[in-house]
Amino acid sequence: MAEKDYYKTLGIEKSAPKEEIKKAYKKLALKYHPDRAPEDKKKEYEEKFKEINEAASILADDKKRQQYDQFGSSAFQGGAGGGAGGFQGFDFSDIFRQGGFGDFDDVFDHIFGGGGRRSSRGGRRGSDLAYETEITLEEVHAGTTQSISLNKLERCPDCDGKGAHKFEACHHCRGSGYTQKTQRTPFGIFQQTGPCSACYGRGELPQDKCSKCNGEGVVRRRKEIEVNIPAGVEESMRLRVRGEGEVGENGGPSGDLYVIVHVKDHPIFVRKGDDLHLTLPISFSQAALGDEVEVPTIDGKAKLKIPAGTASETIFRMNNKGLPVLNQDVYGDEMVKVRIEVPKKLTKKQQELIKQLGEEKPSKSFLKKVFGKE
Ligand SMILES: [Zn+2]
Ligand SMILES: [Zn+2]
Repeated sequence: MAEKDYYKTLGIEKSAPKEEIKKAYKKLALKYHPDRAPEDKKKEYEEKFKEINEAASILADDKKRQQYDQFGSSAFQGGAGGGAGGFQGFDFSDIFRQGGFGDFDDVFDHIFGGGGRRSSRGGRRGSDLAYETEITLEEVHAGTTQSISLNKLERCPDCDGKGAHKFEACHHCRGSGYTQKTQRTPFGIFQQTGPCSACYGRGELPQDKCSKCNGEGVVRRRKEIEVNIPAGVEESMRLRVRGEGEVGENGGPSGDLYVIVHVKDHPIFVRKGDDLHLTLPISFSQAALGDEVEVPTIDGKAKLKIPAGTASETIFRMNNKGLPVLNQDVYGDEMVKVRIEVPKKLTKKQQELIKQLGEEKPSKSFLKKVFGKE
């Protein structure tokens, strides 16, 4: 079997301390995780990911690293299907799905630390699901709850996901759920504990088959889920509902549901961040003489004072009448742009009045700017 350079695989020096191995592994495993592979590179990423895991499983274990440094990778490739690192059966994707890397060190030590009873029972995690939904701007303002109907794999209710009703202790592992694998190397025999492959670590074997799920332990069915959409959500925001994806296999954890929120256009408001923008038509006399007007807000109306002599397109700010900032007790503002409407039809009397106004010249400073004199 070909010699492998585990240091090269992780891109580290032969003298690298364990911390560096961890760091290198974390970086590469994130980069080449199969979930992140582009469509045309799935195979390549998978291979690479496997290599990274193999290298880390050897180099992170002081004893194995020492053997490797002395004798090379062939020291680990003799066992019959045992696998070098004993990381088989562990779902690596768990690391990436526990909401970031907060517990990465624990997981790393747990997998690569060597020895110890593994708590993972080898079940595959269920798939994540995505659901797109649309809400109104009013719902962004107040927050809302939506009922979502999903057709998804669920734990069989008849057998509680076990696939059977009658069980007996597994004779492969004598009911413990774990077996020891023996590995021969030039240095002697190494033993490793892992979940029993006959009973998937359950410690018992089914003696019949659940008729509802045909022994699969899962059934596809429609489920209504209440999703809380918090006030202040932004367009295309993804909300995670933990554990509401598809159920895992062999007792593995459920996937998550991602709700992608879209916000409908509003007939009068335009959203800009947390602010709401509105154009308000006012009459010439309101602009000239001043007035107090009623302005629509996202949840009702408010009064706005228009001072005498207001020009068209002037923007007034109404504090805290905008949208809430997500997860904060802070609100944006409503920006009201007034636009003076010129009436299309006038009565005789109105025409007379406007003619009289027309006798007034535009402001002196304006004329001075344009013509250089008044
Ligand atoms: Zn067993
Ligand atoms: Zn069942």
